[in-house]
Amino acid sequence: MTPEEFRVAAHTLVDWIADYRAKVYSGELPVLSANQPGDVRAALPTAPPEAPEPLDALMRDLDAIILPGCTNWQSPNFFGYFPSNNALAAVLGDFASTGLAQLGLNWQSSPALTELEEVTTDWLRQMLGLPDAFRGVIQGTASEATLVALICARERATGYAAARGGLQSAGKPLVVYVSAHSHSSVDKAALLAGFGREQLRLVATDDAFAMRADALESAIREDLARGAQPCAVVATTGTTGTTAIDPVDAIGRIAATHGVWLHVDGAMGGAAMILPECRPLWAGIERADSIVMNPHKWLGVSMDCSVYYVRDPQHLVRVMSTNPSYLQTGADGAAINYRDWGIPLGRRMRALKLWFLIREQGVAGLQARLRRDLTHARWFAAKIDATEHWVRLAPVPLQTVCVRHEPPGLAGEALDAHTLAWVGCINASGKAYLTPSKLNDRWMVRVSFGVEMAGREHVEALWRRMRETAEGRATP
Ligand SMILES: *Cc1c(COP(=O)(O)O)cnc(C)c1O
Repeated sequence: MTPEEFRVAAHTLVDWIADYRAKVYSGELPVLSANQPGDVRAALPTAPPEAPEPLDALMRDLDAIILPGCTNWQSPNFFGYFPSNNALAAVLGDFASTGLAQLGLNWQSSPALTELEEVTTDWLRQMLGLPDAFRGVIQGTASEATLVALICARERATGYAAARGGLQSAGKPLVVYVSAHSHSSVDKAALLAGFGREQLRLVATDDAFAMRADALESAIREDLARGAQPCAVVATTGTTGTTAIDPVDAIGRIAATHGVWLHVDGAMGGAAMILPECRPLWAGIERADSIVMNPHKWLGVSMDCSVYYVRDPQHLVRVMSTNPSYLQTGADGAAINYRDWGIPLGRRMRALKLWFLIREQGVAGLQARLRRDLTHARWFAAKIDATEHWVRLAPVPLQTVCVRHEPPGLAGEALDAHTLAWVGCINASGKAYLTPSKLNDRWMVRVSFGVEMAGREHVEALWRRMRETAEGRATP
């Protein structure tokens, strides 16, 4: 394809994306794909085309085959999981990144890639109110960032055992502390980092589903008494189930006393910290050794853009560094080589997405949108609290409300069946999407606000739909 052919094709594609977004925003497309497993596969040839095909054919298949198999995360009627906002300014940044085709293997392989990442992650650090000591790096996902954090914790606790016999030569078992409500990626990271299921300690939580600092302290003491070595604690600012907020300050003090690494998982909730009024939620954050927050969730940067902050980049580099001769350059002492700040060697220019979004919206624009979403959640929570037979199951520190419709006479499994039936009915309608999830072993429904295009009218329509569907099903 020549640049001139690309110009024509790209204009067509940009028009197609703009039309798609307009249809999603207007609610014309169903939120959840109605596909059955195998539909897309069955519509595609099993073998690649032998001869070149015209782009028109590709565009036709995008409409006919791919689009029906898409769940429309940008729909203003999407209230599932957590928002995965993908603001159009970030789409432009991503497009520019692919067009520039930079590959950051070291500073010299793309000076702009490295330095834009330094600057934008520092802008974001300031927006989050983090101390100057923190340095950021863009990783693919929070799952990867948490894995890197636990590996760094392991190496600090063992005096860099990786350079010797590794974990197999460490004398004492190393323990990682998490709460039962922390994200599955934390368990996965602990297992991948070699700690072993038996050394993953689930710390008790309180009525608000937050980690109890006193229970952490007791667990650490028990482990010390049995000859184990407390290594890392992961505190979550905004758990996935209920957006519970672990007490970072109290946890950080305990971690500091025992020389335990504190990693804060703010994958979702971290975004709220661009609002000064939310920062008390993670008071004590300056004690963290590492923090992850995902601009690719609520903030609006397209997947994948997860920012990992560390207080001691020297330690990160010491653990992650590789330095084969073909990657060495004269600039090594004077510039950052981000390959030494994480797992992959090759890196895209992901900072462009963050840069485009922050510049197009301004900090004030991003703040206004997040404040709007917090207001939606509070409005909705007040409706639940004021309506008979509707129950709110957890505090609402951020933008997610956990609810159940509990008609008289329904309990236990019958109540579970009712919950799954009404939420299933809404999801199958394509008019809105909500995620059912278990809390204390009973099904409930998470209503997660924060999609970029969701206005008050969508929130009110959702509440009407929930009442009609759940109450309608409950009346014989
Ligand atoms: C979404 C989420 C994650 C995982 O994020 P990825 O970037 O998809 O790996 C981890 N922790 C919390 C609290 C989350 O909400």
